[in-house]
Amino acid sequence: MAKIGFIGLGNMGGPMAANLVKAGHAVSGFDINTKALDLLAEAGGRIAGSSAAAANGADVVITMLPAGEHVREVFLNQGGLIDVVKGDGPLLIDCSTIDVDSARTVTAAAEAAGLAMLDAPVSGGTVGAQNGTLTFMVGGSDNAFALGRPILEAMGKNIFHAGGPGAGQAVKICNNMMLAINMVGVSEGFILAQKLGLDWDKLHAICATATSNSWALSNYCPAPGPVPAAPSNRDYAPGFMAALMVKDVKLSQAAAAATGAPTPLAAKALSFYQQVVEAGDGARDFSVVFRWLAGQSRE
Ligand code: NAD
Repeated sequence: MAKIGFIGLGNMGGPMAANLVKAGHAVSGFDINTKALDLLAEAGGRIAGSSAAAANGADVVITMLPAGEHVREVFLNQGGLIDVVKGDGPLLIDCSTIDVDSARTVTAAAEAAGLAMLDAPVSGGTVGAQNGTLTFMVGGSDNAFALGRPILEAMGKNIFHAGGPGAGQAVKICNNMMLAINMVGVSEGFILAQKLGLDWDKLHAICATATSNSWALSNYCPAPGPVPAAPSNRDYAPGFMAALMVKDVKLSQAAAAATGAPTPLAAKALSFYQQVVEAGDGARDFSVVFRWLAGQSRE
């Protein structure tokens, strides 16, 4: 079993680290938010006093941080992880969703220091993180992927090697852009259905077996009621925060601008999620876009 340093123990990182403990690994974790450390301690992990302390002597160092700036800071800054751990030679795995450039920059710095690194963002939400059923989309060399795979299998069900450094992030950005659009589409359908006097449970049961079905509809319905485990039934507690969805759709728009890909629906969806955040709901689940849209009703 491996010695694992885990940095970033939030909504996703907390349960992912707990699953590594469950699989028999020795996990030492750090988060700047001390509340986030409790879950790891309860799960049987060790709390470290800093990122460097968590990574010290580890075979594998995993990060699950909000955005590219946090990942660059933790790995590259003076006294950053690459400097601290290069003598020990651990495998580095960043599971955060970040821009492709940051992923490639950090991987290049790791490789220059003689370390193997993977970008391994995830899909499946907090439920997938808790149940160990995440999908990992992984970028990096064949060797790094072979080393990382058994570790990722303790946290996920589907582990895909997407290509070289940054390829995991590229897949993730496309995935979340499609999800952002899907969620708006499902929300509009349920709002119109209500205006037409339909029952949401019936609409859900029918559409889940019809051509409008999607993960947003069948697993994560934004209208309260039809999917009991969905954030819509707990006042949109996350889940996946709307502010993080804004970050991800912005990443897709930057990539679209750089490559000339046409993404007009994503641009529209982004403006909706930005208004959700401006309305004060950035820390709620992104499916709260349903409630925001419902509030835009025309008389
Ligand atoms: P979160 O905000 O709950 O967790 C991030 C954690 O990182 C926080 O606890 C924060 O305190 C910690 N952190 C920030 N800077 C740090 C630093 N310098 N050192 C140590 N800890 C630090 O966010 P989350 O929902 O767990 O998401 C994490 C990443 O996973 C994001 O990139 C997100 O886009 C992605 N993601 C989230 C979901 C989801 O459903 N929540 C699904 C897939 C991917």
